[in-house]
Amino acid sequence: MKLCFATNNAHKLAEIRQMLGSQIEILSLDDIGHNEEIPEDHDTMEANSRQKAEFIKERYQIDCFADDSGLEVDSLDGAPGVYSARYAGPQKNDEDNIDKLLETMRDIEDRGAQFKAVVTLILGTDSHQFEGIIRGEILHERKGTDGFGYDPVFAPDGDTRSFAQFTADEKNEISHRGIAIKKLAEFLQLQK
Ligand code: IMP
Repeated sequence: MKLCFATNNAHKLAEIRQMLGSQIEILSLDDIGHNEEIPEDHDTMEANSRQKAEFIKERYQIDCFADDSGLEVDSLDGAPGVYSARYAGPQKNDEDNIDKLLETMRDIEDRGAQFKAVVTLILGTDSHQFEGIIRGEILHERKGTDGFGYDPVFAPDGDTRSFAQFTADEKNEISHRGIAIKKLAEFLQLQK
């Protein structure tokens, strides 16, 4: 089975190939010849995830899935949420985003937060959504150098390390995207 993963994020593509690569051939946007940003202009992860998958399906007539994900901080009423990638501005810079988050939360004691991912799968004319959530807390400073996005300042519950100190396998095992993708994999297994 071949499925296109509708993402411009090379880190996410690598994560997904590691998780699903042995079961499914994952095509990148490059592989199908798409070299532009995919529009995502809704204000929920559910709607953005659906928009990205539908965009690729309609344009290339190929079965595909897309994810939309973000960091939701309890004490910030769920911000940055759907705006996680551009929290510090349209340049979408991970370091700027972390700086802004640490500064905003400097005097906040409640560090509770979660990563959430919503994956939309389009198979033929049917579409399905899968959600994954991982709870944790925002650290007071960066730890570790792996991963991407807010990984250096997010420690999942039950661990003192940040996601940027996890191996890729360890992160995939428990992450929001890992959880959503496991649900997708189980669903595809049932379709066989
Ligand atoms: P998206 O590509 O529109 O889904 O934007 C997701 C944004 O949320 C990313 O650019 C990161 O800032 C953040 N994010 C989502 N998943 C992760 C993760 O696994 N680690 C760190 N940051 C993440």
